[in-house]
Amino acid sequence: MRLSRFFMPTMKETPADAQIASHRLMLRAGMVRQSSAGIYSWLPLGLRVLKNITRIVEEEQDAIGCQQVLMPTIQPAELWRQSGRYDAYGPEMLRITDRHDRDMLYGPTNEEQITQIFADAVRSYRDLPKMLYHIQWKFRDEVRPRFGVMRGREFLMKDAYSFDLDYDGARKSYQKHFVSYLKTYARMGLKAIPMAADTGPIGGDMSHEFLILADTGESEIACHKDFLDNNWLDGVDFDGDLSGVMDTFTGKYAATDDKRDPAQEAALGDDLITARGIEVGHIFYFGKKYSEPMGAKVTGPDGQEIVCEMGSYGIGVSRLVGAIIEAFHDDAGIIWPEAVAPFRVGLINLRAGDAACDQACQEMYEQLMGAGQDVLYDDRDERAGGKFADMDLIGLPWQLIAGPRGLEKGMVELKNRATGERVEISRESALARLTQG
Ligand code: ATP
Ligand code: MG
Repeated sequence: MRLSRFFMPTMKETPADAQIASHRLMLRAGMVRQSSAGIYSWLPLGLRVLKNITRIVEEEQDAIGCQQVLMPTIQPAELWRQSGRYDAYGPEMLRITDRHDRDMLYGPTNEEQITQIFADAVRSYRDLPKMLYHIQWKFRDEVRPRFGVMRGREFLMKDAYSFDLDYDGARKSYQKHFVSYLKTYARMGLKAIPMAADTGPIGGDMSHEFLILADTGESEIACHKDFLDNNWLDGVDFDGDLSGVMDTFTGKYAATDDKRDPAQEAALGDDLITARGIEVGHIFYFGKKYSEPMGAKVTGPDGQEIVCEMGSYGIGVSRLVGAIIEAFHDDAGIIWPEAVAPFRVGLINLRAGDAACDQACQEMYEQLMGAGQDVLYDDRDERAGGKFADMDLIGLPWQLIAGPRGLEKGMVELKNRATGERVEISRESALARLTQG
């Protein structure tokens, strides 16, 4: 993509109402624009990141045999009356009336909808177990939408649902998700810490939140220091028995504000870390809470009726964009982990308009694209200082910097955004480095 044609409305000034780094940087880099409180439009740069995160989530869900569906954003109130949650959910639910005076709502989550689909379709124990997920916009009329996309009113969530015949099966589905979540976040460069959690309005009795540590996180957490630096996922066979993996993680102390235990913390001594954290996912086992009232049951091998055991598994896809920035930024801007970066390479032409410079940059641009690299080519006729600042701001992992003086000798500069390391090397070696591994 040529930057001269790319729609990326960057801002030099820090937006006054943005309190945390990720919100400021997302606005400044032209990733999003606010439409109304907690509701955002995603511009090309932001959408590319959102899609990269979505793709990783999809791949990891698919890998554990969870199948993708797509349910609507608008649901009939009737469904929620069946589960008893229509009245219980409170003012966070956006309630709508259609032209026929029917009560509808903008879905804050989809347990009812998926249970109805499942109950209508499945009859026999042979159809179980099943896991289904979708990635869809949710609406929750949060009292205090803030921190940009981190606590929005409209936000993108992946929510998965498991249906099993018995508790053992449900526990296996839960374990699969538990471990798969750790892998999902790790692929984004994040070390998420699973913490035992209250089940909230969804109900049930086995639940973990996944948090990443960041100073601007909303919850105050405490955990064993081993969570910061561990290799417990190395060599895990994700197709094998995952109960041991889950036990390793749940065997160490980690708790959010409402679950903290002074006695356990005192016992940990120097091994204890207290910090702030951002919730990037939440998984629940809730047994027959929805399947019972909504009739999700199958006929067992000996003809008896079995009410399904269910769980639900959420990932805050749009929140992750902000959370990743909270984890990876410096004073100059964002520092994207490669797996989610909107482009991998930023090619900076230091003398746009100079025939030799333009030609060399055009060649490198085509070579990189030809080798399958995502490149944002800054071909704008602007001062070098502004180009460097913009490139640092948008945080692409690699900057390939080409100016007339270097190019005369066949040399360019390659800068690693994360380490700041900047080396002068030949055009050929730069291309080789960027296209190998
Ligand atoms: P929180 O405690 O942050 O309000 P929650 O517990 O109500 O979240 P869940 O129902 O567990 O949220 O939703 C699953 C995931 O969706 C959360 O872990 C979080 O990452 C994300 N999420 C929830 N609410 C929002 C929001 N208002 N804006 C952006 N992401 C959200
Ligand atoms: Mg939660």
